[in-house]
Amino acid sequence: MAKIELNGLAHSYMPHIQEPQDFALKELNHVWEDGGAYALLGPSGCGKTTLLNIISGLLKPTHGEILFDGEAVTNKATEDRNIAQVFQFPVVYDTMTVYDNLAFPLRNRGVGASEVDGRVREIAELLEMSDSLKRKASGLTADAKQKISLGRGLVRADVSAILFDEPLTVIDPHLKWQLRSQLKHLHKRFNYTMVYVTHDQTEALTFADKVVVMYDGAVVQMGTPEELFERPKHTFVGYFIGSPGMNVVPCHVDGKQAMVADHAFAMEQGLSNIPEGASLEVGIRPEFLSLSREGSGPTVSIQKVEDLGRFKVASVRLEDHEFKVMVNEEDEVPTDGARLVVDPTHVNLYANSHLVEEA
Ligand code: ADP
Ligand code: MG
Repeated sequence: MAKIELNGLAHSYMPHIQEPQDFALKELNHVWEDGGAYALLGPSGCGKTTLLNIISGLLKPTHGEILFDGEAVTNKATEDRNIAQVFQFPVVYDTMTVYDNLAFPLRNRGVGASEVDGRVREIAELLEMSDSLKRKASGLTADAKQKISLGRGLVRADVSAILFDEPLTVIDPHLKWQLRSQLKHLHKRFNYTMVYVTHDQTEALTFADKVVVMYDGAVVQMGTPEELFERPKHTFVGYFIGSPGMNVVPCHVDGKQAMVADHAFAMEQGLSNIPEGASLEVGIRPEFLSLSREGSGPTVSIQKVEDLGRFKVASVRLEDHEFKVMVNEEDEVPTDGARLVVDPTHVNLYANSHLVEEA
């Protein structure tokens, strides 16, 4: 396994680069620690596959370099990088048996027959495919073929890293959950460096110790699931993570308060370092807002209430701004005279979409 460093990496698919938007991947400096389990999370088209293919060597970056354990591999071919990659759709040899498919990456590297046999059986066990080892891959379902692809990615013990590009897309939801737990278990056992690409926050948050969030060709935050929830560094992370996402509303600052329309939201952080002339917003998660008939909070009008089982989501209006408020199932939503109660420790301030942090 290896530590992977990306230095000044950037990529454009265009032959003549004219403007920053021509880069599918904007300049990126990033370190994947040896043995880490990472999820790379972001919406479709944000550059996840591009980044993965650059790490594996399928794509040569326009700028920058890639180091494995301190050694530059930027000009090395995929075969020489010692990387296993699992793609979104199955890559299997239809004419071979399941056994031979799983054995292929090992035999290809000259691993001896008894070691091959041990690894193949171990991986087959893990994927619950021990009974189908003798079957030809051609007769199998898409699910089963994708499991073989996963197995082919996991079978070698000597790889620098395993890269997964949305590997569970074609797998049914139940099996998905099961395979995700298996991957996590494998990571704990063998300490592989794993990068798992997904656009699904649940998948990312359950698989990874660290989640790297990408947006529009850039990494906007790397953090634990808790950090991404508590302190989103970019408004995009606030929207994208959480359900419903963070409320983001334009504001200005007056002393120790953020002013939304003419109403003050007390804040405990992020006021001393605001860039001049920046466009400001407050971000507050629905979990940290509540409604009450008492207190000094601003009066809001209730627009609608959705019942989501364990809790309700109230959409409320404060002049021109809408907020979503999470309400416990057993609590009542006041129909009139509702006031918005804000937890000041969880108010984040954003300048030009980036979190304002103390200097
Ligand atoms: P993701 O995997 O996050 O969905 P991709 O890395 O596939 O995103 O794509 C990032 C951007 O690069 C998108 O705008 C996409 O259209 C563009 N892109 C991807 N592959 C190619 C290619 N081979 N040629 C030109 N543009 C591409
Ligand atoms: Mg992709």
